[in-house]
Amino acid sequence: MRLTQYFLPVLKETPAEAQIASHRLMLRAGMIRQASAGIYSWLPLGYKVLRRIETIVHEEQQRAGHIPMLMPTIQSADLWRESGRYDDYGEEMLRLRDRHDRELLYGPTNEELITEIFRTGVASYKELPLTLYHIQWKFRDEIRPRFGVMRGREFLMKDGYNFDLTKDDALHAYNRHMVSYIRTYERMGLKAIPMRADSGPIGGDNTHEFLVLAPTGESGVYYDRAVTDLTLGERAIDYGDREAVAAICTDWTTPYARTDETHDPVLFAALPEARRVEGRGIEVGQIFYFGTKYSEPLKALVSTEEGERVPVHMGSHGIGVSRLVGAIIEASHDDRGIVWPEGVAPFRVGLVNLRQGDGATDAACASLYGELRAAGLDPLYDDRDERAGAKFATMDLIGLPWRITVGPRGLAAGKVELTARRSGETEEMSPAEAVARCTEIYRGH
Ligand code: ATP
Ligand code: MG
Repeated sequence: MRLTQYFLPVLKETPAEAQIASHRLMLRAGMIRQASAGIYSWLPLGYKVLRRIETIVHEEQQRAGHIPMLMPTIQSADLWRESGRYDDYGEEMLRLRDRHDRELLYGPTNEELITEIFRTGVASYKELPLTLYHIQWKFRDEIRPRFGVMRGREFLMKDGYNFDLTKDDALHAYNRHMVSYIRTYERMGLKAIPMRADSGPIGGDNTHEFLVLAPTGESGVYYDRAVTDLTLGERAIDYGDREAVAAICTDWTTPYARTDETHDPVLFAALPEARRVEGRGIEVGQIFYFGTKYSEPLKALVSTEEGERVPVHMGSHGIGVSRLVGAIIEASHDDRGIVWPEGVAPFRVGLVNLRQGDGATDAACASLYGELRAAGLDPLYDDRDERAGAKFATMDLIGLPWRITVGPRGLAAGKVELTARRSGETEEMSPAEAVARCTEIYRGH
């Protein structure tokens, strides 16, 4: 993309209403625009990051054997009456009426709807196990929407639901979700720690939240330092292998890690002092096993091998897709702007022309731009007639991980500069080497 042909409404001033870095930077970098309290338009740059995150979520869910679909945002109140949650959900639920005076709601979550789909589509244990998921907008009329997309009223969530014949099968689904979530967050350059959680209105006793460590997080967290050393990395995972998947979960859930809701000061105090860490975290996902809590009232039954009709064991699993955009920025920025991890960078490489209008420099940039595109590196070419300082400031603000700078002096020696946003380190090399280097960096992303 050429910047002169793009829509990147960056702000010079720091917006007064934004209290935390991610909110400020998303507004300043022209990623979002508030439409009303807790409701945002995703401008082109923000939308690109959102799509990158969605893509990673889709890939990792499908790798774990989970099946994508799409349910609507608007649901009928009837189903929620059947489950008993229509009244329980309270003021957070946005309730609507259509022209026939039928009661509708904007879905805050989808247990009821998916269970209805399941009960009319599956009759036998032979069709299990089954995990369905979607990535769809939710609405929760939060009492205090704040911090931009971190606590919105309208927000994008991946929510998945497993249906299993036995508790054991459902716990395997729970473990698959835990491992696939850990991998999902790692690919986004995040360290998200599974912490034992409270089940709240969804109910059930098996639940973990995934917390990204950040001083601006809304949850207090207490953990054993050892948990932050764990990584999945590139290891191959066989999601069908129950023992292997469970072993990974054991590794991650054995060290003490809890939020303020479940914190146990006595257990925590038993850790060696050097390993005890207290801090704050952002909840970017949660998984639940809740047994037959919905399948019983909603009659989601399957026939067993013996011909008996039994309620299925279920769980639900959510990732805060739009919140993640803010969480990644909270975890990765500096005083000049955002520093995107390679996995989610909106454009992979920034290209800066230091002498716009100079025939030779323009030609070199045009050819480099073509090569970067051909290599699939989705470059953003700053071809504006601006001074170098302004171009660098924009690139630093929007946080592309790699920048190639092209100027007449370097070109005379056949060189351009490749700069890492994170470290600020710059190296001179030929244009072809710069393309090769970036290609190598993004292999696997
Ligand atoms: P919270 O405790 O932050 O209100 P929750 O526990 O109610 O969240 P879940 O029902 O577990 O949320 O939803 C799954 C994920 O959706 C959460 O882990 C979070 O990342 C995201 N999420 C929840 N509420 C919001 C919101 N208001 N704005 C943005 N993301 C949200
Ligand atoms: Mg939660």
